[in-house]
Amino acid sequence: MLVSAKEMLQKAKAGHYAVGQFNINNLEWTKAILEVAQEKKSPVILGVSEGAGKYMGGYTTVVGMVNGLINELNITVPVALHLDHGSYDACYKCIKAGFSSVMFDGSHLPFDENLAKTTELVNVTNQLGLSLEAEVGSIGGEEDGVIGQGECADPMECKTIADLGVSMLAAGIGNIHGKYPENWAGLSFETLDAIQAQTGDMPLVLHGGTGIPADQVKKAINLGVAKVNVNTECQLAFAAEVRKYIEAGKDLEGKGYDPRKLLAPGTAGIKATVIEKMELFGSIGKAE
Ligand SMILES: [Zn+2]
Repeated sequence: MLVSAKEMLQKAKAGHYAVGQFNINNLEWTKAILEVAQEKKSPVILGVSEGAGKYMGGYTTVVGMVNGLINELNITVPVALHLDHGSYDACYKCIKAGFSSVMFDGSHLPFDENLAKTTELVNVTNQLGLSLEAEVGSIGGEEDGVIGQGECADPMECKTIADLGVSMLAAGIGNIHGKYPENWAGLSFETLDAIQAQTGDMPLVLHGGTGIPADQVKKAINLGVAKVNVNTECQLAFAAEVRKYIEAGKDLEGKGYDPRKLLAPGTAGIKATVIEKMELFGSIGKAE
């Protein structure tokens, strides 16, 4: 059964570890992530961007697939199905479809409008027992068409949004989506520290987890980050493994063209990445 991300993140924050949000793109992704979470006894959040939701055939298709896998694979660790960087409309569509968690990304809106819409969604999600992530200070890079400036969030604005009663808060701290440029300055721990001081027990979310050096991720977790989003890294691992298989000509041998064989190395690549990240975040064994 899908659960809200609220409780798992509060536990993570109190226990000084983080839960990974791994974005899904299809059946292979979803199955790989769920199997690793179960094997490693880790809570997990499955992230779905609006683009990936559309690609997979719509939000109800995603809910059906995820619920089916949880039942058939006997997944007993806590799993949240979460809309990533949702618009106001997408949040309502996902709530209706059966997601257990949504992110409303109003970071590109004027602050007052972000505040008003987040307030409304706090009330709706709280009534339904779902979790809600809000964002303050946009995160650099491209996130399905929402372009951020890579700014650092204003800690007082973070406090205002946190005080509304959201379940988790994403705040720009110099992080970027996708691959990091060579001249990237690193995370602003000064900003993270100031946000943490203003928001207390609120689980903070680190977006753009791909390419942030491990020591910086650990430091961010020590400073109050309780959820780290991983997307690009699984995509890179999947592509690299499928490329190796095809370049070795294995798709031309016997029934090597069978998608179950062709995609198997890519799926193993996703699993290895997820295990590595769960180890880094400290979430292994936390669902026992
Ligand atoms: Zn993000």
